[in-house]
Amino acid sequence: MKIAFFTAKSYDKYYFNQQLAKTQHEITYFEDALNAETAILTRGFDAVCVFVNNMVDRETIGLIADYGVKVIALRSAGVNNIDLQAADGAGLQVFRVPAYSPEAVAEHTAALILTLNRKTHKAYNRVRENNFSLEGLTGFNIHGKTVGVIGTGKIGAAFCRIMKGMGCSINAYDPYQNEEVINMGGKYMELDELLSNSNIISLHCPLIPETKHIINREAIEKMNDSPMLINTSRGALINTGDVIDGLKEKKIGSLGIDVYEQEEHIFFQDLSEQVIQDDEIARLMAFPNVLITGHQAFLTKEALNEIAKTTLNNLSAYEAGEEVGNQVRP
Ligand code: NAD
Repeated sequence: MKIAFFTAKSYDKYYFNQQLAKTQHEITYFEDALNAETAILTRGFDAVCVFVNNMVDRETIGLIADYGVKVIALRSAGVNNIDLQAADGAGLQVFRVPAYSPEAVAEHTAALILTLNRKTHKAYNRVRENNFSLEGLTGFNIHGKTVGVIGTGKIGAAFCRIMKGMGCSINAYDPYQNEEVINMGGKYMELDELLSNSNIISLHCPLIPETKHIINREAIEKMNDSPMLINTSRGALINTGDVIDGLKEKKIGSLGIDVYEQEEHIFFQDLSEQVIQDDEIARLMAFPNVLITGHQAFLTKEALNEIAKTTLNNLSAYEAGEEVGNQVRP
């Protein structure tokens, strides 16, 4: 198949080119994101391959369908950036990579927690300037703390395994209970109970209408003991304005995020010479107890390899007329 690959980065090209040799597909890499303005680039292609920072809306879908595209191949698990109804209406099939490496995301979540807690990012900078003072670097023992996990699917369960290994108790909230989490001693409860009884709260549910702003002013009001809040799932699970207020009021003890609601205008690019126009992320960066990474939780060799393999397998199966297990329907 002829594949138009959008927002191509060096690491994407490296891992996709390795897998491409094993297939008959042809890829043309574009640095741009796919949107209504760039849709013209898809003329003559069978498939588009996009990542989470491509907002594939109804207008874009109408255009690419007119240019002959049949398939949207997501190289991500989350599908919230695609208008699935519009794709279905235009006769386009949508494929995703449901589980390329839950451990990659779970381990980054743990990295955020440990860094934020033990302030190794600050210690690193201090020591480089011959400042060996320990003032302000006090953390807390993770061992013995209660971690509230919202969404206990593949990533949530992998995260529970890590935190269990560190000696934590697990509070869980998910409409569907995961046997594995129960077997490791995780206690399922209502969201309110989890919010008021957890020292660390970590989000691992998908972004869907029911979970949008699941962490808002009301939820923050229910938190006790100023928990650490972590989001490596999707930015809009958090109402950023409410979380900023929660941090100012010390209802939230600290915040670690790998995702941000308006990230498509900021993340995955070097803006170091530019004035950031987004006041909310600028405010977040000004807090001493906030740690932000730019959507890199997935970024391991193993995950990138798996993403490339599964994306191309999805397209091969489609081309061969087989049922594609990773098809996403509205
Ligand atoms: P999954 O489908 O295995 O698990 C999601 C879980 O959320 C399921 O158990 C589901 O029942 C639960 N859920 C659904 N609605 C819920 C609700 N209202 N409240 C609480 N839980 C609810 O998915 P996964 O592979 O574990 O991935 C989870 C999310 O992680 C993805 O949707 C994606 O947004 C995010 N993600 C982030 C990165 C990153 O690099 N930061 C990478 C991959 C995935």
